[in-house]
Amino acid sequence: MVSIAHKIKQKALELGYEKCGIISVEKLGGYKEKLEERIQKIPESGGFYQGQQRLVKFQEEFPWAKSVVVLAVPYCGYHIPKVVRGHIAKKYLLDTRIDENTKEYQNSTALEKYMNELGVKTATNRKFGVVGLRWAAMQAGLGLVRRNNFFYTESGSYVNIEAFLTDRDMELIDTTELPPCPQNCDRCIKACPTASLCEAYTMNPLKCVSFLTTFGGRDLTKDPLAAKLGDWIYGCDVCQDVCPMNHQKWIGNEEFPGLAELSDTLTVEHILRMDEQYYKERIQPKFFYLAPDELWKWQINALNYIDNVYEDKYRTLVLEACSSAYPKVRDMANTISQKHGLL
Ligand code: SF4
Ligand code: SF4
Repeated sequence: MVSIAHKIKQKALELGYEKCGIISVEKLGGYKEKLEERIQKIPESGGFYQGQQRLVKFQEEFPWAKSVVVLAVPYCGYHIPKVVRGHIAKKYLLDTRIDENTKEYQNSTALEKYMNELGVKTATNRKFGVVGLRWAAMQAGLGLVRRNNFFYTESGSYVNIEAFLTDRDMELIDTTELPPCPQNCDRCIKACPTASLCEAYTMNPLKCVSFLTTFGGRDLTKDPLAAKLGDWIYGCDVCQDVCPMNHQKWIGNEEFPGLAELSDTLTVEHILRMDEQYYKERIQPKFFYLAPDELWKWQINALNYIDNVYEDKYRTLVLEACSSAYPKVRDMANTISQKHGLL
């Protein structure tokens, strides 16, 4: 008789997941230690990791949980429109976590429904994970974490990890034959624009471009890291893109629902001229790390991009932003105007 664990895995693979492993909740114990180790290495990151405590204490909310179904699904099959390539991180452009139009979201709900039909009780958090996802995926044998801290399967690091808590005693560990990072490789560390990734497996999340351009967004005119953000507007892919283990992993021949049209509105010109209603309806629900009232942070990021790559074609845009309704956008535009002699 096929076990429930095998049935779940079989269904997951049929739905298009690349990998599926199942572990007992006891296997998640080491996550707490890992988190503490990270904070010890970079003490100023303590506040940042406060939010992760929920993942350590998941049993307080789900005392019935006995095992975790962990899944990996690649997003490297999708085409990234040229206009946003290298400016908005691929993961955010291809975010399937809450986008009901995507097959990945639909597959995730279909798999959960299937488990429930088998009589298995489940819980998940599609947006931010219900347990420490990379740790769980490693324990489940789906792949490994490399020196840039990203989780890799045979598809490289361009994969999403999902996890479902279940009320069943089950275990079905997957296997991987991925080689470790080459002995002397430090390409990711050398390429990190802000030195956030300061050593192997060690990063200061507060210096990461992905933090600074999303939920850590702030007044970049006063931030010494602003120039290092280069032409990134939202997120950063550098430490993944330079990795030899990702070489030729991006396939990019499939259209992601709605992305081509949306991308055309994510140029610096459109961001700086965007009205709030469009932002709230079209942009914010997808790029949810910035709140509905934080269009100004996108505009700060766009101005920072312009400052870093300045060309005369941006002159009018910067001068327009000097009259923005948002004080911080105004301040930054004025600083850039003075710096580049536009006034
Ligand atoms: S995402 Fe970018 S800024 Fe963050 S650690 Fe990687 S290379 Fe550095
Ligand atoms: S760039 Fe090199 S060291 Fe960094 S994750 Fe990739 S293989 Fe490992």
